[in-house]
Amino acid sequence: MTHDYDRRLTAAGEQSRAAGIDALIVTPSADLQYLVGYEAPLLERLTALVAPKGARPVLIVPELERPRATASPAGDLVDISTWLDGEDPYRLVSSLVPEGGTYAVSDRMWASHLLRLGEALPGSSFVTTSVVLSPLRMRKERSEIDLLRTAAHSADQSLARVTAEGLEGRTEADVARSLTRHLTETGCDTALFWIVGSGPNGASPHHDPGSRKVQMGDVVVLDFGGRAGGYCSDLTRTVSVGEPSSEVKEVHEIVRQAQEAAFQAVEPGVPAQEVDRAARRVIDEAGYGKAFFHRTGHGIGLEEHELPYIVEGNRAALEQGMCFSIEPGIYLEGRFGVRIEDIVTVTGHGAERLNEAPHDLLVVG
Ligand code: ZN
Ligand code: ZN
Ligand code: ZN
Repeated sequence: MTHDYDRRLTAAGEQSRAAGIDALIVTPSADLQYLVGYEAPLLERLTALVAPKGARPVLIVPELERPRATASPAGDLVDISTWLDGEDPYRLVSSLVPEGGTYAVSDRMWASHLLRLGEALPGSSFVTTSVVLSPLRMRKERSEIDLLRTAAHSADQSLARVTAEGLEGRTEADVARSLTRHLTETGCDTALFWIVGSGPNGASPHHDPGSRKVQMGDVVVLDFGGRAGGYCSDLTRTVSVGEPSSEVKEVHEIVRQAQEAAFQAVEPGVPAQEVDRAARRVIDEAGYGKAFFHRTGHGIGLEEHELPYIVEGNRAALEQGMCFSIEPGIYLEGRFGVRIEDIVTVTGHGAERLNEAPHDLLVVG
């Protein structure tokens, strides 16, 4: 699966020019992977892609990482310039860009690097690369959607496998370990995160799986994902261990309808907040409005959470190729939680789900 890095670099250059930026300075991050396909170690030594306006980009790397950088797609795309321990890599950056300019630095650049760059480039100003790269990264290419689908299928299969194993009597941590193994066995290169919220723990949306043992009668929120070819998955299903109570069935059905309503609201041109409103309306009308206290979704790609955010106040129009989660939930403190999450992609006329796991309340042993 190869991406069109040349197109991305050209588009980033055009966006930079339009935004009045003199150079992009991108340290290891999803931005760096996006632009040149280099997944660099996150360390104190400076690695930075420096793309000055109108000039060929240069990837600055520590000498000891030259082989690794050269072997990545970056090796064929940009010039590689190395520095030795003891040398000042920030001076190398300042030698490549005009003085006193406006530079876009990666949102995830460590403060230790940014402060040293500020010293090496007196009189300059810094903005974040998101002004340049978000419009590009938000609209996924075919090759990116294919990888998101691979990651989504892996999550679907992992859910099927872990529920087939049964949950009763196992600790949340043990279920989480199974999920991470299933993800890497079904198409993901790595597992990224795993939330297993059993019984009352399910009411904490980002619960960290612990020593609680899943009991008969529990509702369990399973929210997890991995990474395939750099691209993330993020799937949530809520299952019932043994026959669910009528209250659990009712709450689950409200969340299912909210998720479906949000999905139906997705269309190119629709403001992102309308998708949030569609989910929230269903939950509000059912009387559980206060129990749904997070946004409806987040963009996904090289990062688990990225633009666009599906949240009240985001009036930006959805566009074909955008990929994001739809994940309404209802959380009843001290009792249980229910969330249903799929990753969807905006098509020419609506949306398509990348996940295929069924939405019905699954009863497991
Ligand atoms: Zn979350
Ligand atoms: Zn999730
Ligand atoms: Zn999510």
